[in-house]
Amino acid sequence: MGFSSLTNHTITTPYQSSRLGAKVTTIVLHHMDSTDFNGVLAMWHNATRSGSANYGISNEGEIWGVVDESLRAWSLGYKYDGGKGAAFDRHSICFEIENSSTNPPYPVSDAAHEAAARLVADICKRYGIVCNRTNVLGHREVYTRYGASYATACPGGLDTDRIVNRANQILTNAPASATLKPTEVLDMSYSIVHQNGSNNIWVVSLETGNYAGIQSPYHVQLLQRVKVNNGADPMNQIELDIVKAYLTAIHTTPTAPVEFPTLTSEQLTAVADQVAAKLPAAAPAKLNITLSGEASA
Ligand SMILES: [Zn+2]
Repeated sequence: MGFSSLTNHTITTPYQSSRLGAKVTTIVLHHMDSTDFNGVLAMWHNATRSGSANYGISNEGEIWGVVDESLRAWSLGYKYDGGKGAAFDRHSICFEIENSSTNPPYPVSDAAHEAAARLVADICKRYGIVCNRTNVLGHREVYTRYGASYATACPGGLDTDRIVNRANQILTNAPASATLKPTEVLDMSYSIVHQNGSNNIWVVSLETGNYAGIQSPYHVQLLQRVKVNNGADPMNQIELDIVKAYLTAIHTTPTAPVEFPTLTSEQLTAVADQVAAKLPAAAPAKLNITLSGEASA
């Protein structure tokens, strides 16, 4: 199996073992809790600290291959969790990422975030892993969600959401964009409504009452991101074009047909669970619109 083609250097460590047949389904991110990258590499290589990672990423964004992807790294094992952490390691590829400071909140550099996102995108592509926050986890989430490993602040100031979002940009070949102001897309207030008793989801203009069926969970997520965007959530051109197409449609003709970039089923599935948690249970009554079989979706 070896290492990603993005790997800049490799070292060896004795802290590795068999995956015992487990398939790689998850990526787990750790921070090193250290600004001494070479020191951490030396601990792994010289077996002075019982732990390892498949990859180490430096503050400058260099990617080091440590434990071959075909093998289990020792990142989550913990003797008091009944073997759950070790089992998690067996189906995961894990990164240890250097901090830019060891003072709280243990920040991680932009270069290291970018390298991590590129590596996440590469691994998701090669293993057919859907790139979302179910499959890409920070160490502490392995504990809070699954009770594996132990309670921890790891990965510190590493922003796992940012890495997953950026990895999805890379996977869709979309350029990174400057920070978005929602009004730059189209100055219109709109609502996203979920039709009772069906899977239909609509975007409705609160100014004209026009509406259009939303064609995928991914598009729902994009419309929601623009709606709540205070400028801190950068979006790329493809994402903005999709939102623009919907808002232009409901600004002019109800249920106007809209052309959208083709997205893979993986990209659609990637956001479905996040979307479901945010949707309103039913269309707000005050809109008083009939939603029956007129969907363009
Ligand atoms: Zn950790």
